[in-house]
Amino acid sequence: MNFSSETVDFLVIGGGVAGLRAAIELAPRGSVLVLTKDKATESTTGYAQGGVAVALSDEDEVCIHYEDTVKAGDGLCNEEAVKVLVEEGPACILELMSWGADFDKEGSKLSFTIEAAHTRKRILHSHGDSTGKEIERVLIKKARSFPSVRRYDFAFTLDLITEDGRCIGATVLRGDSIINVFARAVILATGGAGQLYSRTTNPVISTGDGIAIAYRAGALIVDMEFIQFHPTTLYSPGAPQFLLSEAMRGEGAVLRNIHGQRFMHHYHEMSELASRDTVARAIVSEMVKTGARHVYLDLRHLDRDFVKKRFPQIYTTCLQYDIDITEDMIPVCPAAHYIMGGVSTDLAGETGIKGLFAAGEVACTGVHGANRLASNSLCWRGWSSAQGPAGVH
Ligand SMILES: Cc1cc2nc3c(=O)[nH]c(=O)nc-3n(C[C@H](O)[C@H](O)[C@H](O)COP(=O)(O)OP(=O)(O)OC[C@H]3O[C@@H](n4cnc5c(N)ncnc54)[C@H](O)[C@@H]3O)c2cc1C
Repeated sequence: MNFSSETVDFLVIGGGVAGLRAAIELAPRGSVLVLTKDKATESTTGYAQGGVAVALSDEDEVCIHYEDTVKAGDGLCNEEAVKVLVEEGPACILELMSWGADFDKEGSKLSFTIEAAHTRKRILHSHGDSTGKEIERVLIKKARSFPSVRRYDFAFTLDLITEDGRCIGATVLRGDSIINVFARAVILATGGAGQLYSRTTNPVISTGDGIAIAYRAGALIVDMEFIQFHPTTLYSPGAPQFLLSEAMRGEGAVLRNIHGQRFMHHYHEMSELASRDTVARAIVSEMVKTGARHVYLDLRHLDRDFVKKRFPQIYTTCLQYDIDITEDMIPVCPAAHYIMGGVSTDLAGETGIKGLFAAGEVACTGVHGANRLASNSLCWRGWSSAQGPAGVH
């Protein structure tokens, strides 16, 4: 084992939407090192399908997006954080588009869809159901355009380095080397923890490392009881726990129990478009009642060509397991999807430890309350120059 050390201005741990956006914001203000524990493109961000919620359509308003978010959060959202999300979202999306993000359009206008617990069509999507890949592509390209940003892939962060109660860097395992990276500010952007569950939509990198690392350094961890289960993941022998986007129900797909009966209207007035927690619980109730390990998602009544064009990735993946989603009902069951809790931060991403910041799924500002509104996690602003890591000296 080799031991070495190096110094940068900003150390960003994680290369998903949160880490990349942080790196881009910090790049003009000093040297930035981005660490990922796998290859550059292996993040939850790249797997996001349905889209990104933003109040940009003619029928929508920022205050309605705010109300929907607070309602889905079950009265437990930090309302100041929700305001930041919904008010700054439109400018963030326009910025992403100016960097080259290609969201789907109808004619010359952006195409918006609806997902559970949204009362307006406000979800932008890309290449049908590959929104995360597009956002990741654009952010990786933008981050690479700054000479001040370097990255180490396959670099596993083991722990933070603290001195006198202040975070001054992190210890990283890279190949057969242990590197102490010292920095003015450290930004944790390590994503979620779905892999703690036997059924999850999350990729193998989502093992909650950032929460454990921050906890060991003495940071405050909050709201860990709030885990979101996605209602519909593929349940088929030999198939992966593949997510079937909520946008499918937004476009008219319905749920049926194993006897072929619709049931959501017994549980909520919004039926299939009730919030995720409600739909996931209703599915589990039906599974218990019928003694089955799944229910069905049914799109057979929708136009075949529309379904193939709107959900190309899902169509192709299901076909590999002998399920033609235009002709067959899809066996589905809930799986752990998103962690609302995490490392407690203020609205500038600052944790209780000087020099340590957190952003993205690892962080908890309280914006999602007890239940994240669908598609509310891919839109993230950077910091103004007065706030955040650049202000640390
Ligand atoms: C299948 C799926 C579909 C989704 N669809 C949507 C959607 O349509 N809309 C939406 O808003 N949200 C969606 N989400 C949620 C959303 O994708 C995530 O919340 C978001 O992408 C998290 O971004 P992040 O930057 O915080 O973390 P991630 O994108 O997960 O990135 C984490 C980064 O941290 C790195 N890392 C982790 N641990 C370490 C370590 N110890 N050392 C070094 N690096 C480390 C990883 O290598 C990775 O680069 C979906 C999630 C899943 C799983």
